[in-house]
Amino acid sequence: MTKKKTLEFLKNKAEESDRLKSAFLANMSHEIRTPLNAISGFAELLCQKAPDDSESISFKKIIMNSSSDLLHLINDILDYSKIEAGQLILNKESFSLNELFAELNLTYFKKNTNSLVKIDFLQTAEPIILTSDKQRIKQIIVNLADNALKFTEQGTIEVGYKTEKGNCILWVKDTGIGIPEDSRELIFERFQQVNKNPTRLYSGTGLGLTICKGLATLLGGKIWYEPNNMGGSIFSISIPYFSTTKNEHLPKNEPLVQTPDWKFKKILVVEDDPLSVKLITKFLTKTGVQIESFSDALSAIHFIQKNDVNLVLMDIRILGEMDGFETTKRIKQIKPHIPVIAQTAFAMDFDREKSVNSGCVDYISKPYSSEILIKTIARYI
Ligand code: ADP
Repeated sequence: MTKKKTLEFLKNKAEESDRLKSAFLANMSHEIRTPLNAISGFAELLCQKAPDDSESISFKKIIMNSSSDLLHLINDILDYSKIEAGQLILNKESFSLNELFAELNLTYFKKNTNSLVKIDFLQTAEPIILTSDKQRIKQIIVNLADNALKFTEQGTIEVGYKTEKGNCILWVKDTGIGIPEDSRELIFERFQQVNKNPTRLYSGTGLGLTICKGLATLLGGKIWYEPNNMGGSIFSISIPYFSTTKNEHLPKNEPLVQTPDWKFKKILVVEDDPLSVKLITKFLTKTGVQIESFSDALSAIHFIQKNDVNLVLMDIRILGEMDGFETTKRIKQIKPHIPVIAQTAFAMDFDREKSVNSGCVDYISKPYSSEILIKTIARYI
């Protein structure tokens, strides 16, 4: 083989391996999320029903908690693989850090069940608008705050932020067990867990900090550790910050106060998994919306040619000649005014991009709660 041919052969091989890796990630995500969506969705419905006996209520809660733990774990494995494969794409937007902290403060007030630990999300009076990936920043803070809760038996956890020379510094400071000096670099490496205490076992995979480091780097910043001089740990991240006070265009994430009345609205659901159709129908029952569902693209397109609907919920991976992206394009050609929301069990970032390019107005990934589904639809209906 000539040198040129060898190089071409190696290049093709590398590209093929890259394609295989993406396909594997996408498939794994889909395969795991689809059943999980049914488990967590139906468990949620069971919990909403009138309580029967206390034991079955506790069983239902276990199903919900375990599926949420499982989902968390899968998301970690996927994020880790995506970072390693260089396939994690950021979604940048402008958002208020103050609002994010207020939201997290409330979540952790409920989440912290240890009365010996006080967790505080410090707020500054100055409004800070960041242009970055909000979900990924939230993921880093949640990861660090969850670790702080896990490794602190009593004392305080402080989560704060400040701006400094073109950067925004966020920190999570705890008064927990701390980290021995010789392990402080190791903890950012994959699968590393440094707890040497044989009397206490901490759950975890050793992926959390590796993911935080990968995300911080992708966001253009860094993460580091310092010991807390009161005992315990301080984890900090810095990300680029450009001062702006314009927050009038920020999307408001308001809680759903009332169930909407959609009695006179109609939604078309394109979905080939019967359990998912059943779940969507159940989730939306209380809104009174009329639902028409099809498991294949051609029937859905045929229906749209003859009928009008207020919104389409499109599964991206429907079986048949046309996938959800192609079907969306066709629907938008026929009735451009109908908003299409993509829903998928693929949690891959390029799906979001592809959905938008095909004409979808929004995107939800399975598993989702009834609240997320209703809130997302409410934005467009
Ligand atoms: P996991 O928590 O799933 O084991 P992480 O990557 O989040 O994985 O953390 C790696 C290790 O770093 C933990 O197992 C623990 O030994 C140590 N660690 C992380 N955060 C803290 C903390 N706040 N206090 C003490 N040790 C910590």
